[in-house]
This record gives sequence, C-alpha cells and structure tokens, in this order.
Amino acid sequence: MDVVVIGCGASGVAAIRRLHDAGLKVLGLEAADRIGGRICTVPFASGTVDIGAAWCHGEKDNVVFEITNPLDLLGRQDPFENIYVLSNGDLVDREKGATIIGALNDEVAKADKNNSNSISECVRKAAKSNELLKNNGQLTATFVEWFERSNHVGGQRDPRRGKSLKGLEECWPCAGEVFLNWKGRGYKTILDVLLSIYPDPSKEIPVPILLNKEVESIRWGTNQPGLDSNNPLVHVKCTDGSLYSAKSVIVTVSVGVLQERHNTLFNPSLPEEKINTINNLQLAVLGKIYIEFERPWFPKTANFTVLWREEDKSKFSADEKWITEIYGLWTVDHQPNVLLAWTYGNGTELMEKVSLEGVKDGIQKLLNVVFKKQFDVTPIKSVIRSQWASNPLARGAYSYRCVASEENRSSAILLSEPLYRTNKFPVVCFGGEATSHHRHNSVHGAVEAGFREADRLIESFKRLDIK
Ligand SMILES: Cc1cc2nc3c(=O)[nH]c(=O)nc-3n(C[C@H](O)[C@H](O)[C@H](O)COP(=O)(O)OP(=O)(O)OC[C@H]3O[C@@H](n4cnc5c(N)ncnc54)[C@H](O)[C@@H]3O)c2cc1C
Repeated sequence: MDVVVIGCGASGVAAIRRLHDAGLKVLGLEAADRIGGRICTVPFASGTVDIGAAWCHGEKDNVVFEITNPLDLLGRQDPFENIYVLSNGDLVDREKGATIIGALNDEVAKADKNNSNSISECVRKAAKSNELLKNNGQLTATFVEWFERSNHVGGQRDPRRGKSLKGLEECWPCAGEVFLNWKGRGYKTILDVLLSIYPDPSKEIPVPILLNKEVESIRWGTNQPGLDSNNPLVHVKCTDGSLYSAKSVIVTVSVGVLQERHNTLFNPSLPEEKINTINNLQLAVLGKIYIEFERPWFPKTANFTVLWREEDKSKFSADEKWITEIYGLWTVDHQPNVLLAWTYGNGTELMEKVSLEGVKDGIQKLLNVVFKKQFDVTPIKSVIRSQWASNPLARGAYSYRCVASEENRSSAILLSEPLYRTNKFPVVCFGGEATSHHRHNSVHGAVEAGFREADRLIESFKRLDIK
C-alpha cells in the first residue's frame, strides 16, 4: 500500500480521490459506520436535512463550488426575511435590529487585528463606547449575547479560548453567494461526486474504504527501539486488532480528536511544536435541532433572531437552561414544514445530554413562551438533533484560532506541516479542515486540505522515485 488515509470525511475522501487519480495505491480507514464525518445528510420530514455542514459558502476560490457548480448541483436561496423576536414574545423593529447588528459588525471590521485580542472583548467594549449601541441599553445587551452566539466567538469558560480578531482576518471568506444549498440532496452530494458515485453509481472509483476501523496507533518512526530501521513503512493499528502498513499516511481527524488522542495515537510522539499547536487551536461547539411542524406557521424563507432578556430566562429551570441559549430559528430550503434551531457552546453541550423527547418538549416550551404571542404556531410533528460535541470522533463543529493560539503562534499552517523522514519524504501528513491555511472551518477548506496533502505525496513519490 502506498498511502493509508485515516478518517474519511470530506478531507479524507478528497485525498483518496486525488491519490487514486495519480495511480497510487490507497486505502481509507474510517472509524464510524459511514463516511462523511461532519457531513451527515439524513432523511427527515419530506426530504433530507444536514445534521452537519449544510451550505457551500461562497463561489470564488471555493473548490466545492468549482467541482459541483458545473454539474448544476447548487441552488440559490430566495432572499430571507429577518425577524427579531425578544424572549418576552415582542418583536423588535426590523430597521432597528439591522442597525444594531450593523454597528456590531462595523466595530469588529474596524478593530485592529494585529494583536491577540478576542472578538468577544471587542464587541463588549463597543457596547460601552459606541453611541448607537450605548443608546439602546438593554436591547444592545440582548444583541451582544446573540452576536457572540451566532458568530461562535467562544471563550465562555476561559477568555483565552475566545475566537481571535487576527484569526478572523486569517480565515478568508469566498466571495459570492454565502448560502448555496444542494437542491434537497444534502451536502453528502460532494462525497458522491468525489467518489464518482454521482452522476453514475456504476462509475464509483475502485478504492477500498473500510468502515468501523478506528485507528488506535500510528507507528511512524524507524529509529525507535524495537522497530526495523530497514523497513520504512508506517504501521497503523485499529482498535479491532487489524494492522495495515503503507509508505505514508494522511491523518484527517478533527483537531478535537487530536487533542484527546495524540498521546496514544502517534508512536513516537509528535514533536513539541505540533502538540502545542494542537492544544492551542479550538473547536467551535455548534448544535442543530430540526423541527418538523404539521403545517408551516412562518414565512417561506425567514430567519428568526432570538434575543434573550435576563428576566425571561428565569421562566426556564436549570435543566432547561439550554433552551435559553437557542439563538435562532431558520427556515430550511426544500423543507416547507421544517425550522432549524441553532444552539452554541455550553447550550449545545447541555442540549446534547437531554433525551430526544426532552429536546422536543424544550422546543415546545420555547414556542409557548417566546413565539405564541405573535405567531399562530402549529403542533410539532418530530425533531432530530446533532450531537457533535459528545461524539468522540468529532468533539465539535469546526476549528478556529483563539487568543491562546495567537499568543503561542499556533496556526493551521503549523498544524499542516508533515513529519518527514531524513530523506525529506513526508511519512505522516496532516489534512482536515483545521489544517486549511485560510479556509479552515468549512468543507471547502477540508477538501482543499485533502487535495493539498495528496499533491504533496504525489510530488514526493515522484521526486524520490519511490515505487
Ligand atoms: C453543525 C455543523 C454545521 C456546519 N456547517 C457547515 C456549512 O454549512 N458549510 C461548511 O462548509 N462547513 C460547515 N461545517 C464544517 C464542516 O462540516 C467541516 O469543516 C468539515 O466537514 C470537516 O471535514 P474533515 O474531513 O476535515 O473532518 P471530519 O468530517 O471530522 O472527518 C474526519 C473523519 O475522521 C474519522 N475519525 C475520527 N477519529 C478516527 C480514528 N481514530 N480512526 C479513524 N477515523 C477516525 C471521523 O469519524 C470522521 O469521519 C459545519 C460543521 C458542523 C458540525
């Protein structure tokens, strides 16, 4: 075997495709019972929903867009209505809501990014110094809380883990439409395209991808006692005892998985600098709850912004705290009866611990307390939710740079640096969204990173004439 790809999410699958096209012998090992990782399209209500990534964000320099748009797979959203709902059920004037959000965005945009300050620090300061924000007093406080949740700024427990302003600048958005949908097919379509299952399943590329293969150790050093220095293979062991060897491996597991497991996963251990980088990057914790109603009671395309006042939070018990952290309800493309509720951070972790029935009851209470005053809410038929934080194969949604990363100069670039043999052959390569230099946090970043590492290996096999 030339290359073993560890983890078959978007990044792993992209790497597999590129290596296969170059004629290398490649094997994919995936711990879960499905491929896709943080892409997870499932049947729900009258079609499908995405429990993980849902939208192709942007068009320019977006590898997912470049691959799938020519196949006419991407759809555009109708313009959506913004509805601002206070937790006592009152609506906030749209213009006023837009002005406050605009002021917060402007403060972040104009803030000096050449430091290790956090976004959270910036908006909290702005709420006290910006005239427009100051003049809106308590209303501004509800918007600041919403802004922090909807921008996943982190640092709730430890401010040094808050998303950094510099990191924001280093993560490049792709120009063009930000919310391209998959016309009801779901984000898993990208995997079907990469593996050539779409448009014709009979053309699927003949590469073995083994499921339920949780990798437990990667022995990559040849100068370790007990290892044969004349045998330059990497040895991969799975929890079921199976063993695989290859000339190189590409590791694509999330930075959360690396944080938890790097100690036991790599033999010999990773260099100090790599460990430092892994520990100083963060994984945003994001949650989704899809709610199917008997009939739609909301406009066809709308985003409800939920703004929590402190006094209304007390209508919810300690066990119901997660409900008071829901920051938005969005309509879902191609699913007329469905709304998507968003949770973040601590709220997500709490929600994940509640039973599915408990989640349904919680959403019902949210609707009773917050929405029934202004809307003719119809009965809930069913709910489905994500559990990325408690999933040991993910541990969160996507990576970001925090205050600690800036202080310790940790970045996606450092994380992506391979481990080399003395002849400069990259023996352990690192893919996955967190290693994408400027597009971490997205599927297109993950795919780009998978291609990048495959290209690195293809070039190295050629350069060193490795057969
Ligand atoms: C709720 C949510 C919403 C999101 N929304 C969007 C969006 O709309 N648009 C967007 O572009 N991005 C979005 N993202 C981010 C996007 O999903 C990720 O950036 C991307 O899917 C990551 O792909 P990856 O291949 O790097 O990692 P993963 O998808 O995590 O793949 C890693 C794989 O490794 C496997 N694995 C883990 N440990 C082991 C082991 N020991 N042995 C073998 N295999 C292992 C995992 O099971 C997984 O399949 C969202 C993410 C979440 C969770």
